[in-house]
Amino acid sequence: TPHLTLSLSMTFFGAGNRLIFIRDISKVRHLEKMRQDFIGNMSHELRTPLTVIKGYLEVIDMHLDSESSRWRRPITQMQEQAERMENLITDLMWLSRLESVPQEDSDVAVAVAATAREMAEEASIHAAGQGKSFVIEVEDSIQLTGQFKELRSAFNNLVVNACKYSGEDGQVTISWRGNSDGGATFSVSDNGFGIAQHHLSRLTERFYRVDTSRSIATGGTGLGLAIVKHVMMRHDAELTINSEEGVGSTFSCVFPPSRVVRG
Ligand code: ADP
Repeated sequence: TPHLTLSLSMTFFGAGNRLIFIRDISKVRHLEKMRQDFIGNMSHELRTPLTVIKGYLEVIDMHLDSESSRWRRPITQMQEQAERMENLITDLMWLSRLESVPQEDSDVAVAVAATAREMAEEASIHAAGQGKSFVIEVEDSIQLTGQFKELRSAFNNLVVNACKYSGEDGQVTISWRGNSDGGATFSVSDNGFGIAQHHLSRLTERFYRVDTSRSIATGGTGLGLAIVKHVMMRHDAELTINSEEGVGSTFSCVFPPSRVVRG
């Protein structure tokens, strides 16, 4: 039998009067768990046939000779789409894990400054020839307590987005700084396309895109910011987004003092 989950809320009215609401949300929780399990299983099941399709496409590609060269373009397109589908499955599996599996591994000290440099290097290799520049403003003495794989994937999604959504010659600034309250902030800024204000509150929803064709053309799955949001929630951190259309965007992950180690 499923556990009973109760939700408690209190409303004050008049002079010292209060009303207490008790709701049974077991069913809501159960349905949410079923939804997450379904996404997790489905992603897993899709991966096996896709691996076979990709494998055979590669074999066909290798055997194309000059007589069958008219098949080159369709085969390349099929390979690109298979790649897109694989990225989507990987992100879906990762997101469903972040949503449903509680943190089990113990936290480690994450050297954010070194990770930021690594990510910038990878991004600049990837964007070679596009004239992009990277600025790194990091404090090596500040470390973060958390899950390395999760934090790296979240931070990297922000760096990749800053590259994707800034034009050629764009500038991407990665910063990691201490805050006056003892916490610290990781942020990524770009001088790219920017985002209109009315989109901002919905950006972390799954598959929410400002410009679908631009996102798909740059290989986006539409799940990157949903992943960032969940990783931040698992690290007691907050994601804030500032953006102006045609000027650029700043995505900041603000960590509380309990997650920050100095020294
Ligand atoms: P995607 O795979 O489409 O990039 P994300 O969840 O990472 O998915 O981002 C959601 C949407 O937010 C993107 O489709 C894009 O429209 C917008 N976006 C994200 N980062 C930026 C950025 N740095 N500048 C402008 N728009 C951005």
